[in-house]
Amino acid sequence: FAQPQWGTLPDHRAQVQKVRAAFVEKYGVEPDGVWSAPGRLNLLGEYIDFLGGSCMPMPLPYRTYVAGKLREDGVLRANSQQMPGDERTVIIRDIRPGNLKGWFTYVAGVAWSMNQEGGRDICLPKNFGADLMIDSRVPVGGGLSSSAALECSTALALLDLSCPLRADCDDTEEAPSDQSSGNDELRARLAQVCIKAENEVAGARTGGLDQTTSLRSKPGQALVVDFRDFSIEPIEADLDSANLSFLVINTNTPHELAGGGFAARRAASEACARALGLDYLRNALPEDLTCSTLQEREAKLWRLNLVDEKTTLALDALECSDTPPDFPRGWVRHAFHDMTLVERAAYLLKNTSDLGQPAWEELGRLFTESFVSMRDELRVSRPEIDLAVATCLERGALGARLVGGGFGGAVMALIPSDKVDDAAAAVARAYAESGFAAPEFLPMVAGFAADKDF
Ligand code: ADP
Ligand code: MG
Repeated sequence: FAQPQWGTLPDHRAQVQKVRAAFVEKYGVEPDGVWSAPGRLNLLGEYIDFLGGSCMPMPLPYRTYVAGKLREDGVLRANSQQMPGDERTVIIRDIRPGNLKGWFTYVAGVAWSMNQEGGRDICLPKNFGADLMIDSRVPVGGGLSSSAALECSTALALLDLSCPLRADCDDTEEAPSDQSSGNDELRARLAQVCIKAENEVAGARTGGLDQTTSLRSKPGQALVVDFRDFSIEPIEADLDSANLSFLVINTNTPHELAGGGFAARRAASEACARALGLDYLRNALPEDLTCSTLQEREAKLWRLNLVDEKTTLALDALECSDTPPDFPRGWVRHAFHDMTLVERAAYLLKNTSDLGQPAWEELGRLFTESFVSMRDELRVSRPEIDLAVATCLERGALGARLVGGGFGGAVMALIPSDKVDDAAAAVARAYAESGFAAPEFLPMVAGFAADKDF
């Protein structure tokens, strides 16, 4: 019978040394520094960041590492351990949306975006260039945001490497990481820079969830991010004292389809917001969605139905105009549903020490509710995902869901720690019996935000 394949928690110091050694081997000199940024586990709130909803992510212990060295000829050169033999070079001032292809767009896009959007302290000096070596422990294309981990580690690397070329850059005092790591205001702007790079140069119209988590998380904590103003609230997620774990399963199913599928859903939800006369679809719901009691949640859900009616009218109007005839209302219903779930889940997570086990149990149910909505309304699941979720629930998980944009990717379960091994074995077995590719199980502890590593 199939044994579960467990990944290992990366040894951060060893990863830093590894990318450094790869840099020396490729370029024949020592790098000036190493920077790294985490992928993210989104606990709740999918397809709503770009609609002004709130999401509840957590940084992963799996990171992307970038070793870099300054050059002063305006050239950006990069190699990635995940793309062996595919060295890329570009003159930074020649980078434009559309004139590069493939993985390098995520790297070069950041340099371009820093110059477009960055403000004086982020804009790269004219003759600035760099050699980069990239190595990642975030599964690539697995719904855990290797793309943001790459952008955010690159952004910090370029910012710090350019320091000696900036007249007003004070590099001398305090810890070397201070330039890039200290300040949430600067990090919030860097997140916008990375979002613009992903949207306009890499061509993926994702919202800001991934970059915000990677740059602005607090060590060991989850975040609630309100995407109307990108404000963040860190929350302690003390699973240990409740004897609970997050089981993260990389289903090893490709999600290339996500390109078109994601963009269509985003466009439809945004069109609905416009038809309602709103900046953000989130604003169709009451301002305060916090539900401190279950009764309150019922009441809010009832009000949701009213919103649903209003939305239906808007959708009717849309369907008469330029949307395709099969325009799925469920895409929009999912968004409203997840927006209310996150508010309730955030309340529960903040109060687990007072509310105890029932709070964890309800949190688990909310995870599963969100999954059902992603499967039936948003329709971004696939058989491998459904099987992993169902098997985890059968084996005692309090809840389980698809993480990320869907069409493949990762599944997460909230599960008693003493049931993790049994659930993993059951999922591995079920996959083998169904003839699916073997999944990988990733040990999970909360990580920390992007930083300079030496
Ligand atoms: P996810 O962010 O869920 O992992 P995406 O499709 O958003 O999936 O991003 C994956 C893409 O990001 C890859 O196809 C590749 O172009 C780029 N990428 C991510 N990590 C690396 C890496 N370590 N080296 C090179 N390219 C990478
Ligand atoms: Mg991504």
